[in-house]
Amino acid sequence: MNNVKRVQILERLRENNPNPQTELNWSSPFELLIAVLLSAQATDVSVNKATDKLYPVANTPQAIYDLGVEGLKEYIKTIGLFNSKAENTIKTCRMLLDLHNGEVPEDRAALEALPGVGRKTANVVLNTAFGWPTIAVDTHIYRVSNRSKFAMGKTVDDVEQKLLKVVPKEFKLDVHHWLILHGRYTCVARKPRCGSCIIEDLCEFKEKTEV
Ligand code: SF4
Repeated sequence: MNNVKRVQILERLRENNPNPQTELNWSSPFELLIAVLLSAQATDVSVNKATDKLYPVANTPQAIYDLGVEGLKEYIKTIGLFNSKAENTIKTCRMLLDLHNGEVPEDRAALEALPGVGRKTANVVLNTAFGWPTIAVDTHIYRVSNRSKFAMGKTVDDVEQKLLKVVPKEFKLDVHHWLILHGRYTCVARKPRCGSCIIEDLCEFKEKTEV
């Protein structure tokens, strides 16, 4: 795909949704960090259901740490992989208290050093909480980027690097939200909804559907 087309796609996605937001509920960098950590292999809806009950009770590293692993599990047991997520969350809270004064560090290496926090989670936090032009590639972005030929790559890291290279600066802050939402609701995994896709004429997928 050439860059002229890419910009047309981005302009269209921006026009359709000028101020895209994550679908996770959060009101502080810490709440976002924990929500993203909990969202691995789980839906945002399921995470929101849990955090809507958890955060009014505990939404700081100290308060969640004080719940302990078993106490935290009571709030997140409806989310997949909750056992390991509870352990990682408590360890992360401990590290935030010990090393970062209870704050979420605005620093990639420090974020990735937290238990349960990988490159994707760090990218989401840096982008969404701190406004960095990072691009967190998840399964939706990986699929949309490859299928449409917007930014092709064999791994999520390849796609991230490709996107960082081809997406002009003015779109970098929001592109990850646009592509996630596009993948979640239109360019869905099993059968993309090409017939109702706002970038159908620009997308280079060969087997478009009529729906
Ligand atoms: S036209 Fe189809 S394949 Fe291309 S981005 Fe839209 S939904 Fe996805």
